[in-house]
Amino acid sequence: MALSQLARSIAESPTLRLNEEARLLKERGEAVINLGIGEPKNKTPISAVLGAAAQLAEGDVKYTPVDGIPSLKKAVIRYTEENYDRLVAPENVIVSSGAKQSLFNVLFTLLNPQDEVVILAPYWVSYPEIVKMIYGIPVIVTPEDGTMIPRMADIEQAVSSYTKVMIVNSPNNPSGAVYPEALVADIVEFCERKDIYLIFDDIYHKLVFDGKTAAPAYRYARKDTDNGKLIVINGISKLYGMTGYRIGWAVASRSIVEVMINVQAQTTSCASLILQAGAEGALTGLQSVVEGLRLTIQNNRDIALRELGALPGVHTFRPGGTFYCLPDLRAYSHDSVELARLLLDRARVVTVPGREFGMEGHLRLSYSGSPHDVTEGVERIRWALDPQAPNEIYIGDRRRVRDWL
Ligand code: PMP
Repeated sequence: MALSQLARSIAESPTLRLNEEARLLKERGEAVINLGIGEPKNKTPISAVLGAAAQLAEGDVKYTPVDGIPSLKKAVIRYTEENYDRLVAPENVIVSSGAKQSLFNVLFTLLNPQDEVVILAPYWVSYPEIVKMIYGIPVIVTPEDGTMIPRMADIEQAVSSYTKVMIVNSPNNPSGAVYPEALVADIVEFCERKDIYLIFDDIYHKLVFDGKTAAPAYRYARKDTDNGKLIVINGISKLYGMTGYRIGWAVASRSIVEVMINVQAQTTSCASLILQAGAEGALTGLQSVVEGLRLTIQNNRDIALRELGALPGVHTFRPGGTFYCLPDLRAYSHDSVELARLLLDRARVVTVPGREFGMEGHLRLSYSGSPHDVTEGVERIRWALDPQAPNEIYIGDRRRVRDWL
């Protein structure tokens, strides 16, 4: 019998395919540089390690309340007050196994089949796929060529009577764009006026560079949390470099959270107690770890921009946050999947094709690794693409010759 049509329609991820190939190459001793994955290299903050370890040592790890342990929810409430100046109740918070699950649960809770969801390109790959999994329809708004900031007029044009939800991610994966305050204000005002649910994915909100901050949606919301349709998603994966803990959360109106709890109860029951305790440790421990990470990444951003600047014909939008950039490589190829493959084959560098993010002709590079990875990764890309580059280089201890010219 045939498998589900819907399940089969969910896109295969070229990222995972390239990552798997990179892993196999590494196993064979090849010096692969991974600029594909968005994952800081820092060690888990000690307060998180101690929190998780103490819970484990209790020898009593059972189910938790579906929406999260009360002490972690309290930490989330404090986080929301300190970072957004917004006081919320425990009934407004639900903890899940990663922000990705939070997003899935929110969208599952909001959408009827055929409801439209406005998504701003470039977008995180999972948004349209999750929407499709729930039989919703993604409607993509693409910015003017060369910019990574959508225009309000284009957003308004994409909205119809079928629009139920808009998803906004600033600081943005994959471009690194931090949306201007005026745009965030306009989006919040527009969604309130049109009665559209606004999901603000704030997972990178403190990874912002050059002494700036990201404008939070809360600042412009005139309705309070229970009467409004603003939902804010957050987590520990990016700011604390705790991707493997799989803890994220949503802050929304009580009526949304109530249904999300039922959805979660019937799927995963709850996030793991040990990992919730670790997340609580991260949120209640020294917050200077986030600032340390931010500074390291800002330095990496500068290195990435400098190295990319030496590649003729390449324009890179200057990221104001996150650990990604999205150089425009159309001077070399309009097919980003082919280009990513070629860079892995020729130079042993993993990148992610822009096509996955709704931005063909671009590649997403992550500078969340070491400064050495960033420098050497972009140098190798230059070597592979720039006809002026030397004819041969060493990658690890292997000599590679430009045999494709
Ligand atoms: N939103 C965005 C924009 C992301 O980039 C990611 C992770 N790549 C997530 C959500 C999911 O984060 P988590 O690890 O908490 O599931």
